Amino acid sequence: MNELTQGFIGFCQDLMASRAGYGDSSSGIFKKHPNLKADQYNRSQTMTNTTQSIEMPSQELLNDQFASLDLTDRIRALYDYFDKEEVLVTTSFGNNSAVLLRLVSEVQPEQKVHFINTGFHFPETLKYRDELVRLLNLNLAEVSPSAQMYELTHQRRFWEKYPDTCCYLNKVLPLEPLKERHKVWMSGLTGFQTDHRQKLQIFEPPLFGEKINRFNPLVDRTEAQIRQFRQSQNLPSHPLEVRGYGSVGCWPCTACAPGRDGRWKDKAKTECGLHTNLHNTEFS
Ligand code: SF4
Repeated sequence: MNELTQGFIGFCQDLMASRAGYGDSSSGIFKKHPNLKADQYNRSQTMTNTTQSIEMPSQELLNDQFASLDLTDRIRALYDYFDKEEVLVTTSFGNNSAVLLRLVSEVQPEQKVHFINTGFHFPETLKYRDELVRLLNLNLAEVSPSAQMYELTHQRRFWEKYPDTCCYLNKVLPLEPLKERHKVWMSGLTGFQTDHRQKLQIFEPPLFGEKINRFNPLVDRTEAQIRQFRQSQNLPSHPLEVRGYGSVGCWPCTACAPGRDGRWKDKAKTECGLHTNLHNTEFS
């Protein structure tokens, strides 16, 4: 057994131990919104189980309230409930990432924006990252798997036979500590991208085993609306988009094709797992 394999086994043991306590989803997350009347709280199911539910608007109410707002006002209204330190913003610097980044940079310029750098991004994506950071003056923070994990993934080419495990180890897991430290996760998912995303609402409660709520301010916007926003704001395009890539992720799992057809091409997989309940099942 070589050093890398030993390291991987140790890592998996640590991981299983660290996940043993999962399942507690209790957290009091929402501050009372000044514009909501008392009887608007607890109208129905709250977004998390909490002993402070009197302070929480229901998910239904939040979604009703936010649905009628334009994109900028949705982002603004989120900060009526949360401090910027409580908000986790992630971006992939993909084709439509500039939309959310433009909105966040305008409303909350100091907001930290996280990029999961797996080490498997196209050079064009890193160039696009740098361009958007400069243009929008982003407060960027990168999250990465360990050098050992990168090396192991690279040597074993996990993405070929075990793409779920690969995404879990290189994307999902590095973000876990950040999810623990924040109360709501803002990302730029849009419903037109996949069947799974089509079913999402603006506010989503924590997934099983998690505490963090999800905020998807773009989720009900059509592809045409997103395109129109990008044009109206004069936002630059990802260099690979102009070469025919409808969606761009890690290079081993991205082919040149329309829409998301080029992601994990010829595999059943359609989501990396950050926004689904992906666990490391392929090796278990
Ligand atoms: S997108 Fe591909 S290379 Fe990137 S983490 Fe997932 S399976 Fe691995």
